[in-house]
Amino acid sequence: MIKKYYLLSPGPTPVPEDVLAEASKPIIHHRTSEFSDIFMEAIDGLKYTFQTKNDVFILTSSGTGAMETAIANTLSPADKVITINGGKFGERWGHICRAYGVNVKEITLGWGEPFSKAQLADELKVNPETKAVFTTLSETSSGTIYDIQGFGEVVDSTDAILVVDGISGIGATPCPMDEWKVDILISGSQKSFMIPPGLSYIAFSPKAWTLTEKSTLPKFYFDAKRAKKSLGKRTTPWTPAISLIIQQKKALEFIKSIGLENLIEHHRILGESTRAGVKAIGLELLSKSPGNIVTAIKVPEGLDGKEIVKTMQGKYKAYIAGAQDPHKGEFFRIAHLGYMGGFDVITSLSALEMTLSEVGYRFERGKAVKAAEEILEENWK
Ligand SMILES: *Cc1c(COP(=O)(O)O)cnc(C)c1O
Repeated sequence: MIKKYYLLSPGPTPVPEDVLAEASKPIIHHRTSEFSDIFMEAIDGLKYTFQTKNDVFILTSSGTGAMETAIANTLSPADKVITINGGKFGERWGHICRAYGVNVKEITLGWGEPFSKAQLADELKVNPETKAVFTTLSETSSGTIYDIQGFGEVVDSTDAILVVDGISGIGATPCPMDEWKVDILISGSQKSFMIPPGLSYIAFSPKAWTLTEKSTLPKFYFDAKRAKKSLGKRTTPWTPAISLIIQQKKALEFIKSIGLENLIEHHRILGESTRAGVKAIGLELLSKSPGNIVTAIKVPEGLDGKEIVKTMQGKYKAYIAGAQDPHKGEFFRIAHLGYMGGFDVITSLSALEMTLSEVGYRFERGKAVKAAEEILEENWK
């Protein structure tokens, strides 16, 4: 059989054909009004998806570069911060802060466990010198959504800023930056933004921007003030990833034509149908607060999680994601993110059923697919 490749991971995600085609056009120069028009249109589209009046800066880096930018531009050595670590990406906030000599109070949660705004309020009460709270909208490693709206209410009444990694979440689950009082919001190109990896996005609220004036951490490539100055001239400080920005403008036109609300609703339906499918065959979710982006599924007792992922990827070319360290082999993740349609859910569940029966899991064949189909049918518009 032809082994068709199915990208079912929470980043990178599939890219629409006409967006892919943009990258095959001749390169234009970035210091031209032609490129500036495209660049500014892309920024308008990003502001639309971030739901903000603040500037959104486009950085040539993967998402982690924007995380580093948030830290290097707002903090000074030995500043006290809180990081919420509920998985690989929440943990990364702590790693970057420590690399910069920032004083980290890390709240470590079990993967998939929730964290409430009341708990955050308590932490801020006992740590009144906190300069910033670092958290994650959609923790991709565990398939968990956190209460950013609640965190925003809590942090807004303090001197601290709220910094949110929305890399996998923006465009797929709600997070209106201004309304929810998020001070720094970050995203990346290879998740719901429907283009290849290589760009990251970051916006600062006025409250966060006042900290950039005081911050003494070292910075050069990721200096937000340089980015702002250049943006005033409709350009970037350094050579931008020209083709990716052109692709992003194109993908944002598509996103706008769908409408942000409809796009989030689309992801909700994909998430719900995936969860219905896996539950129908007796599988359990890892997360207590699962969402629209990726479904993390516990490996049933007695089965080898690595074998499941290996069979899905190797035999069926269904590129779901395994679990990351230190939980390798304990669960696996099926994404429903970005340019995916209803039948991508069916593809993943069908490949999963074939895989599970092969590794010896006992269940009624077809039940996962059927349960997902029912949700898709109910919601098909
Ligand atoms: C993908 C992802 C990142 C990491 O981004 P890179 O592009 O690999 O640097 C960070 N946070 C979250 C929540 C992600 O999903």
